[in-house]
Amino acid sequence: MAELRSYRMFIDGLWCDAEGGARLESLNPATEEAWCRFPAATGNDVDRAVAAAHRAMSAGPWATMSATARGKLLRRLGDLVAENADLLAETETTDTGKLIRETRSQIRYVADYFHYFGGAADKLEGATLPIDKSDMFVMTVREPIGVVAAIVPWNSQLMLAAVKIGPALAAGNSIVLKASEHGPAPLLELARLCEEAGFPPGSINVVTGLGDPCGARLTRHPLVARIAFTGGPGTARHVVRNSAENFAAVTLELGGKSPIIVFDDADIESAVNGIVAGNFGATGQSCVAGSRVLIQAGIFDAILARVAERARRIEIGDPLDQGSEMGPLATRAQRDHIESVLARSLAAGASLVAGGKRPAQYPRGWYFEPTILDCPHSDIPAGREELFGPVLSAFRFADEAEAVALANASEFGLAAGIFTRDGARGLRLMHQIRAGIVWINTYRAVSPMAPFGGFRQSGVGREAGIESLLDYSRTKTVWINTGTAPMGDPFTMR
Ligand code: NDP
Repeated sequence: MAELRSYRMFIDGLWCDAEGGARLESLNPATEEAWCRFPAATGNDVDRAVAAAHRAMSAGPWATMSATARGKLLRRLGDLVAENADLLAETETTDTGKLIRETRSQIRYVADYFHYFGGAADKLEGATLPIDKSDMFVMTVREPIGVVAAIVPWNSQLMLAAVKIGPALAAGNSIVLKASEHGPAPLLELARLCEEAGFPPGSINVVTGLGDPCGARLTRHPLVARIAFTGGPGTARHVVRNSAENFAAVTLELGGKSPIIVFDDADIESAVNGIVAGNFGATGQSCVAGSRVLIQAGIFDAILARVAERARRIEIGDPLDQGSEMGPLATRAQRDHIESVLARSLAAGASLVAGGKRPAQYPRGWYFEPTILDCPHSDIPAGREELFGPVLSAFRFADEAEAVALANASEFGLAAGIFTRDGARGLRLMHQIRAGIVWINTYRAVSPMAPFGGFRQSGVGREAGIESLLDYSRTKTVWINTGTAPMGDPFTMR
């Protein structure tokens, strides 16, 4: 058996093991075998990382660095990510099963996120206020918030880390990032690039270990001032409860059950590609998966037949193979969960149009076929619950009003897709649909410039865009008495 790759954590600018030396193993989803070891941080390790981040904010090179210099470091990090994209992509693919053709292109784009936030670092401006008192000059300045606790899941973890590290460091905060136990390796490779870029000790720390104690200790730590969490709604509730201990400002990027709506005037080719990208890209393990497909009744059969034909042709295979179009699910638990929701959905009246089982040619690896369900009514579990896998639930609608009602009949509100050639209808529905992101005649597009985030059970706050930079800083109001007279009556508010 090949030697397991061995990783250490990055705390206070140093590579270290967990207290007591405990380690965990990460499994390769394509082989089901362990391929690397990494530290299982204890609560004390998390405390050390937070203390280091707090010191970095209080004194030393990071605390006094100009915003322009911080921006240069972030741009250097972006360059290093682009130069090392192949290594990062292979690491992410081996750790999580995500296709190499996806990780290669996504990681090159991750570099752009660091470039974007690097460029924005010295654009955070305060204001002078036209105040209602003649002898006062009043201004606001933007300041960093403090130590940021960032928690990411195993899917797209470099992208999800970049939208936290980028604005947090650009605004002058320090950060402790907790990687998922199911995909820590790419973030430890990223930490190596942060070291190479020259970030001062403590400004960025990466810890690895179990959600509890690691994430739990981090999010309730008294020195943490800001929490950025991506994961499931259940874990998010723990995070919010923990933040009652430190009153940290919290952003939550959670799950979804996003609708893709196809009207009978849509460009069919485009709609079919949107549905396939929205459900089978990343093996469906995407928070913005368009897993509820709503199709106007007159074209329902034709569209579903086209999508099913394309789904059956998807090349399932080794995620490290450039020719593969769909890899395995990231964990055994993911596949078990999908199989159980599928069984409940069939029992509730859904019928199977394609897939529905493990591919026979892959007895090893957590593979699952691209699956399509025809749902005759809305009470089908797969049409309500987030599966986080390659399963599409298709529903019929008669008219615009029914499409909107179905689209909004979800506890989530992350994204929505609308396919129609009627521009006015696209805009009308954009206003009516309760989701943080609406794609019209496209799906799954993201950018460092475009805010990303959801409504309701899909979370609070936005990542990416200038808005997120403001979200990692806070306002301080400064009053200066410009008058010559001494301060007046001390018992009267001025
Ligand atoms: P989880 O919520 O299980 O885990 C997310 C992170 O939280 C992991 O790092 C996990 O650590 C950590 N964690 C676990 N327990 C705690 C705790 N008590 N306190 C603090 N942190 C904890 O999510 P999954 O890993 O299953 O990821 C899938 C979810 O992420 C889906 O619901 C998906 O929709 C969502 N997601 C949302 C995105 C968005 O931007 N809206 C993007 C991508 C995914 P560990 O893994 O070690 O247990």
